[in-house]
Formats: sequence, structure tokens, C-alpha cells
Amino acid sequence: MGIVKTKNLTFEYIRRDDEGNVEGVTKAVDDVSIDLKEGDFVAILGHNGSGKSTLAKHINALLLPTEGSVIVDGIDTLDTDQMLKVRQTAGMVFQNPDNQIIGTVVEEEVAFGPENMGVPTKEIWKRVEDSLKAVGMFAYRTASPNKLSGGQKQRIAIAGIVAMKPKCIILDEPTAMLDPKGRAEVLRVLHELNEKEGVTIILITHYMEEVIEADSVFVCDKGRIVMQGSPKEIFSHVEELKELRLDVPQVTELAYELKKAGIPIKDGILTNEELVRELKNVYYR
Ligand code: ADP
Repeated sequence: MGIVKTKNLTFEYIRRDDEGNVEGVTKAVDDVSIDLKEGDFVAILGHNGSGKSTLAKHINALLLPTEGSVIVDGIDTLDTDQMLKVRQTAGMVFQNPDNQIIGTVVEEEVAFGPENMGVPTKEIWKRVEDSLKAVGMFAYRTASPNKLSGGQKQRIAIAGIVAMKPKCIILDEPTAMLDPKGRAEVLRVLHELNEKEGVTIILITHYMEEVIEADSVFVCDKGRIVMQGSPKEIFSHVEELKELRLDVPQVTELAYELKKAGIPIKDGILTNEELVRELKNVYYR
């Protein structure tokens, strides 16, 4: 069984009036069954309101299923006695780093999680050092988080989660508020954590370029998973993605338009190099 498994997961937000009567129900996740392999880099795509955040919040037990189940590293999130264990196994990073950072000194901020978990002091400082090195922020350990750029703050937030030694990190649009440099920094750190430490990464993103190097991709629409596969498989379906109001990487779009214009190149081109190779095949054969 994978590190994160959902079985027929359904979640409804229920709106009530002042007297507690139900005013409306939104089914935000609708019968989702997924099985994520430990050590994978997983991307979740979908336009606004498709249920990505709601799904993500179930993986670290911030929300509990209305129906169905979520199993994180063998623990059912409905087993509330084990909630801390679930949160320690699957850490969550949100969009806005300013809402997540509370400490006044970087290393205190990173120490906060393991301190709360009751990790012995000596071990805490070792973890803080290792985590800050893993995100490339050790040189800033005595800095004030307020003075850092958005990308640096987000890396501190990630270090705070890494210090709790999670097997899995879920990131809900962590780069949405960052400039291109900050986005690249955060992405590099995530791939390093995945490759060097074997941490399972679940990345919710709007940026198609961030999906290209994922091991698997899930596409949400109206609370359901409507496509899943490798980036190559997903981006071979340009028309369907457009119908779901999603973009494709620029080079995939270019290749798709060239093919539509009659040039015989394959589907699912993800990099400039691949496109150049394909065009060379067509014209210099
Ligand atoms: P996404 O992350 O893909 O933008 P969300 O999971 O945030 O999607 O939202 C899925 C659906 O649930 C949307 O229709 C949204 O309006 C609704 N929703 C999200 N959060 C709440 C909430 N706290 N209360 C009521 N409805 C919500």
C-alpha cells in the first residue's frame, strides 16, 4: 500500500444559518480513490474550486472525510487518537509564507515543530541545522524571517516541516505568491528533498512548468480526479486540458500547434530539447 491512500473519499462543506439549519452543501471532493507511492513526486492540477485544497487538507487530517477514508502511512485519519502521528508523517506547507511564520529568528522558527513534538533539545538543534542546510538557508539561521524574500520565507516554512522528519510533504500552491526566482528556489529544494531524502512530495500548483518533472500527475475537476498519469501522458491530452481550463507548458502548446498544422511530431512534448529532436527527425531524415 502507498504512503497516502484515499478510498471513495467524499467531503461536503455544510453552510448553516444562525439557528444551525443547513443553508447549503458543497461537495468539494467527490468519490476520490488514489494511491500515492512512497518516494514519488506527485503533482495535483486543477482550476480554482476543483477541490485540490480540500483533498490536500485531508492528507494531514486538517479535514476528515464526510464519506470514505484516508490512510496515511497505514493510519486511518478518522482515528483521532493518532492525529499527531498523521500530522508528523504528512506535513503541510501553504501558499502564503507570512501566515505560517511566527518566530522572530529563523532557527527558532524551524525548531518550533520538533519542540512541540517533544524532541530532546540536542536532537532539535541537529535537526534545525540539517533542515536549514537542506533548504539552503543555513547562512540565515540567526536572521529575522521578516527580512527575507518570499522564496526564502517559503524555504524556511519548508525547513520547519522537514525538521519534524515527515515522510511526506503536501504543498498547496507554495509558489503562487513568489517571483520566478523564488519559485525556482522552492522547486529545486523540493526536488532535492525528494531525490536525496526520499521524501514523498505532493505539490498542488497552477504552474505547468512545475509539473514536468513530477513522477505522477493528478488532474481535479469538480471534486473528482479526471485524469492521472505521467506528465508525458497528461500533456498528450492538450484538448482535454483546455476543456478543463488548464494550460499546458509553452513548448507542449507549440508542438501541439505544429502538429495541428500538419507537421508529424509526437504528442506530449515537454522540453525544448525534445521538440528540437522531433523537428530534426522530420526535416533531416
Ligand atoms: P481548489 O483548491 O481547487 O481551488 P477548494 O478545495 O478550495 O478548491 O474548493 C472546492 C470547493 O469547495 C469550491 O466550490 C469552494 O468554493 C468550496 N469551499 C472551499 N472551502 C470552503 C469552505 N471553507 N466553506 C464552504 N465551501 C468551501
